[in-house]
Amino acid sequence: MKKSKFLLIVMVFFAMFSCSTDTIETVEESSVLEDQSELVLKEIINLGFSEKDILDMGSYFLVGDDIMFSKTGRPQRTDDNMTPKQRRTTYLVDHNTIGVRIDPSLPSNWKTATRDAMNHWNANSGSSIFLYETDYYWPYNGGFLFNPEIEVMSDSSDPLPSSTIAAAEFPTSDGMPGYRVRINLDFNPCTLTNNLRFYNMIHELGHCLTFAHTNTSFGTHIAGTPTSDSNSVMNGGTACTLSSGLSTGDRTAVDTLYPLGITAPTNVQAYHDGDEELTMTWNAVPGAMSYKIYNNIKETGKTGWYHYRTRTSNSYSRELKRKFRSGYKMMVTAVDANGNESKMTEANYNW
Ligand SMILES: [Zn+2]
Repeated sequence: MKKSKFLLIVMVFFAMFSCSTDTIETVEESSVLEDQSELVLKEIINLGFSEKDILDMGSYFLVGDDIMFSKTGRPQRTDDNMTPKQRRTTYLVDHNTIGVRIDPSLPSNWKTATRDAMNHWNANSGSSIFLYETDYYWPYNGGFLFNPEIEVMSDSSDPLPSSTIAAAEFPTSDGMPGYRVRINLDFNPCTLTNNLRFYNMIHELGHCLTFAHTNTSFGTHIAGTPTSDSNSVMNGGTACTLSSGLSTGDRTAVDTLYPLGITAPTNVQAYHDGDEELTMTWNAVPGAMSYKIYNNIKETGKTGWYHYRTRTSNSYSRELKRKFRSGYKMMVTAVDANGNESKMTEANYNW
């Protein structure tokens, strides 16, 4: 009784903490972390995880191979239905086109796996999710900055246990995707093939998009998904055994949470006049209020795409000197009245 009263007081305190951070400057951070960490641990156990499966990693608990619970955050609630079903966490990403940075220090096989996994999510035709590669931080003077939102990196700065292949974060209350995927280059329970890297990256990016493990009770069941799905790429504990990408049930899950809002532009053509003018045209998309034009980055040491301009018509032209056109690339998306953005379509280059 005394203990639960104490917990209640701590919980009330944290409820206050979350809404009025400027009034509690005198609280000592270290004791806060300890109390909160105990609460988080209890709640993880309440979610149905066994204590032996919970690893204390210092600033967070690692559960079920690759689910992380921050000691300073609140674990997400779940129902207690143990039937395998596609599951989601509390928050969704509030936009469709998501920039991903692949750390240059990653081995090439993991870079390839990440790019292939991004393409796999993008190729799912029933949802609007589109992941594109970028590492562009430079605040472009037109004001259209598009920073990477998910960073894919090794675990060297924050090591994972050798039995954990990777760890990802979930989306946050501000509508952003999970901000990073850490890959364990010392993972040793099995020999990794490129296919396993690929399937595991699909899985980890799925966490960044809100998906929990299909085969555990953590998270909320997504309506319309099957009652059992041994093929789900989001099953946990499968780092060495995954053998396919998104299952039919996984596709239902992502199509349900991130439905296709507006179709992507088609027939995107880029012409160059051979002198210094670039012109782009594409077919108008029904329901489009505007179009976003993305350019690839042509600076040394930079890769990826950034949002360059927005247009309300289905054409665009700009000055582009002939000497710069080689390797110049563009993609176009359509945006509807609600701000939903389509997937990206890359131009055909007529030069
Ligand atoms: Zn996982």
